[in-house]
Amino acid sequence: TPKIIGLTGGIGSGKTTVAKFIEEFGFPVYYSDDRAKDIVNDNDGLKSKIKELLGEESYDENGLYNRKFVADKVFNNKDLLQGLNEIIHPAVRIDFEDWLKRQTKYLVFKETALLFELKLNRQCYKSVLVTAEDNIRAKRVMDRDGKTYREVEAVMEKQMPEKDKIKLANCIIYNNTNLEDLKEQTEKIIFSIE
Ligand code: ATP
Repeated sequence: TPKIIGLTGGIGSGKTTVAKFIEEFGFPVYYSDDRAKDIVNDNDGLKSKIKELLGEESYDENGLYNRKFVADKVFNNKDLLQGLNEIIHPAVRIDFEDWLKRQTKYLVFKETALLFELKLNRQCYKSVLVTAEDNIRAKRVMDRDGKTYREVEAVMEKQMPEKDKIKLANCIIYNNTNLEDLKEQTEKIIFSIE
């Protein structure tokens, strides 16, 4: 079986950009956060569990996940958020295991914002952290999503501090300059993993 490399970073760090470079270098990437978004619509067992926890309105009349309703419902409600996570995270884990079985490369990457928070790094051979200065990350997200500085800051404040992630990571990519530099660092790191 392939070695699993966890790839993570806070909001606007550039982890998705790095993941795309990794794919360009020929390695498969599992996008946990994207998959989680699909799974809530595709998996009937999961749908009933979510409705049971948060109410029928968790899905609209077409059976599509009502992200806004769910987000409002779990916002500042730790128990409901935990309940929701306890439904979604195991489903993503199963989906990942299934994906992993189909991989043939010696290295695969698992992109997830919550690598350290969920202690998923323990199931990885190595971890790669993408990090950048807060103000740079904020600027990038403001440009990308049209968010305000305050909105980005609010997300950052809820995430694990960068200094804690830096302590836990095996490899660190500092994304404070340009995309060329980012790609070069990515290449160096992935080909030095042994
Ligand atoms: P999120 O967790 O918010 O989805 P992310 O960590 O996946 O963020 P990306 O989406 O890869 O981050 O990057 C955030 C934005 O910054 C994107 O618009 C991306 O194109 C841009 N970006 C990332 N790195 C650089 C860089 N070195 N130079 C210029 N722009 C960059």
